[in-house]
Amino acid sequence: MTASERATSTSAESADEPPVVELDNVEIVYDRHFLAVQGVSMAAEEGDIVALLGPNGAGKSTILKMISGIGRTERGEVSRGHVFYDGEDVTNNGANEMVSRGVTHILEGRRVFEDLTVEENLRCGLYRGGRRFRFDEDDYEIAFEYFPQLKDILNLKAGYASGGQQQMLVIARALIHRPRLLLLDEPSLGLAPKLVQDIFETLVEINREEDITMIIADQNAKRTLNIADYGYVMENGQIELNDPADVLAEREEIKEFYLGTSSETSRYTDIRHYKIRKRWT
Ligand code: ATP
Repeated sequence: MTASERATSTSAESADEPPVVELDNVEIVYDRHFLAVQGVSMAAEEGDIVALLGPNGAGKSTILKMISGIGRTERGEVSRGHVFYDGEDVTNNGANEMVSRGVTHILEGRRVFEDLTVEENLRCGLYRGGRRFRFDEDDYEIAFEYFPQLKDILNLKAGYASGGQQQMLVIARALIHRPRLLLLDEPSLGLAPKLVQDIFETLVEINREEDITMIIADQNAKRTLNIADYGYVMENGQIELNDPADVLAEREEIKEFYLGTSSETSRYTDIRHYKIRKRWT
């Protein structure tokens, strides 16, 4: 199957197993009239890391929120098209339902409970829908397997932890849920390059060792494409480009606008023409 077929195929058309998650021609509105996303078809195959790239306001978070069901709490709604999870239609399902199916969403902005200690934050990972969903020390230990640094700050109030430590904490807390699909919104935001590299390398380890499918929405195109299997680029609520990550990273538009590594030196008018042309091709 070609990349574009893969991006637009329905579960019935694809190979034996349906993708873990698939959006088929999805339109998303907030408050019943604000159109945030339109005509988006994308898929995350089992075990893949998928990069979702694009500038501010492109619609990346909206897509993640409608997959995890959190978008409904913000009066978001899939008004056209369908969202499938394991081949089953889960369009507009609520967050509780999706969490119980193994979808964990790490929101933008490192949402820790600032007044709780790091350990207490981790223990919150043992709860789901207000109830402790199981108690197994092994589940808790997975946090330290990938982020042993957290052991040194267990008694620190999470609000006093550094940005990097907080990012590790929210990923570790999500792992305790043993997700099947992990959605990460801007995990690199505001972190030093070395820290981003360490955290992204750990995400790859988690993906391989725990077989967790991931969709990473991030503005750091270089780092994200570097660890991804497949990538989508959004602009103005639509998918503008999609390809295997290594192919996408080599595309001139990506080098020009996202990686800053193009060999071509462009004047502003050239760039503008290029952008306009890009929209229509
Ligand atoms: P960023 O990286 O800045 O978060 P993004 O690509 O994730 O950008 P979204 O946050 O999904 O983009 O926003 C897409 C559009 O939807 C924007 O125009 C935004 O203003 C709008 N939007 C996002 N959340 C809401 C909401 N809760 N209610 C109404 N409009 C919203």
